[in-house]
Amino acid sequence: MLKEFHCIQDCSDCCINRQYYPSIDYGKIGVLLLPQEKKRLENLAKAYKINITILPRLGIGTNKKSNGPRQVIAYQLMGTNTDGNYCPFLDIKSNNRSPHGGFNCAIYVERPLSCQAYPALIENNTEVELDCNCKFSCQYSNHVKKNLLESELIALSTIRNNFDRFTQQTIWRYATHIGEESITKFLLPRGWYLHE
Ligand code: SF4
Ligand code: SF4
Repeated sequence: MLKEFHCIQDCSDCCINRQYYPSIDYGKIGVLLLPQEKKRLENLAKAYKINITILPRLGIGTNKKSNGPRQVIAYQLMGTNTDGNYCPFLDIKSNNRSPHGGFNCAIYVERPLSCQAYPALIENNTEVELDCNCKFSCQYSNHVKKNLLESELIALSTIRNNFDRFTQQTIWRYATHIGEESITKFLLPRGWYLHE
């Protein structure tokens, strides 16, 4: 019997913990941003007087002169800690809490599409597969009923539609060189790498 998704009481894990992706050597990734979201996030950070770092994440085609992609198709909003964790928009200083008791997002109404979609990953007719790093997935199941995830699925579909047109292209990934100090020696130098 499939469960209905709900956030775990007091959890803010998805705004704190960043993952190594696609493998440790590429370093930790940030919050995915579509190119059309980058300027808006930069303006929000200015308005809230929050320092942010945005790095490229995915590119397509090849620019022979720079030995990198011809076009950046995704950016990433990096965490504030040296180990890559903690979104800069997560309000960990005030006593305000979200409805389920987690820390507040300072830009909740205007948060990036990838935050709106999380933790939905894949949907079919009857169920949704969740990201396995979500605390609900870890505690219960990474397959849930589709109801209660309508807005997440709309955001997910917008992100997918944005990337679908690039499927036939050469893909580049950006290595961030960010992670726990103990694994620094395994990290690739920061920059673009052709995705095999
Ligand atoms: S989506 Fe998952 S990881 Fe994020 S706050 Fe909810 S339960 Fe926690
Ligand atoms: S922008 Fe908001 S919702 Fe997204 S990771 Fe940061 S704090 Fe969380």
